[in-house]
Amino acid sequence: MRTPIVIGNWKMNGTLGEARSLAAGIRDGLKQPVGAEMVVCPPFTALPAVGEILAQSPVGLGAQNCHWDASGAHTGEISAPMLLDLGARTILLGHSERRHELGEPDELINKKVRAVLAHGATPVLCVGETEEERRQGLTFTTIEGQLRAGLSGVASEEIARVMLAYEPVWAIGTGLNATPAQAAEVHGYLRGLISELASPEVAQGLRIIYGGSVRPENAGTLAEQPEIDGALVGGASLSAKNFLAIARSAARDGGSRGN
Ligand code: PEP
Repeated sequence: MRTPIVIGNWKMNGTLGEARSLAAGIRDGLKQPVGAEMVVCPPFTALPAVGEILAQSPVGLGAQNCHWDASGAHTGEISAPMLLDLGARTILLGHSERRHELGEPDELINKKVRAVLAHGATPVLCVGETEEERRQGLTFTTIEGQLRAGLSGVASEEIARVMLAYEPVWAIGTGLNATPAQAAEVHGYLRGLISELASPEVAQGLRIIYGGSVRPENAGTLAEQPEIDGALVGGASLSAKNFLAIARSAARDGGSRGN
């Protein structure tokens, strides 16, 4: 059974004061349980403060990236054990902004996925095609390549601990979003690949969330698709009210997917 999950990616937004106030807004808006799991990924600088504010709440702490080594001469980097030390248990990897702005290749993302698993945290492997790739009919080829490379060398039982995020690059921060049917088609394809790479049981249990301009207005129709297990939310997660509304929509059909 797959419990819906909504992850907020705050990206490079928020001074400490702003991050504290956003985290407090989410905590205080949770007087009523939402029925979906919730995780926020603040900037590294705000992790301790946000972790403290959300400590007694059901909202989990996550991070936006990490290095593959546990420690060493890697100027400017942060490792999985350092993030775990701050309470972050969910780590986004292969976000398209890192793939495209910083040139992160699949091989490096794979090293990070394996490191995060080895340290006992949950990697959220992000995959998605560009507008040009979709136009050329290369959507499935692209995401299949990213998935196979990202999970290369990962054993079946470890794949069961991974989460996937389908994020079409053309939909991130653009206000455009994949239709529920377009997203569900890709999610179904990814689930089929997981079935092949691990097993049908692992595929049934693995959560695949959608990201790309998710807003309170479109979250409900996306959540109606049984293949969509929640959302990775960028811009809209910077408002506590909107993030909570999306989480409520993600849980709207009352919950779990799968057999
Ligand atoms: C994201 O950051 O992963 C994202 C989907 O951003 P947005 O919701 O702003 O499109």
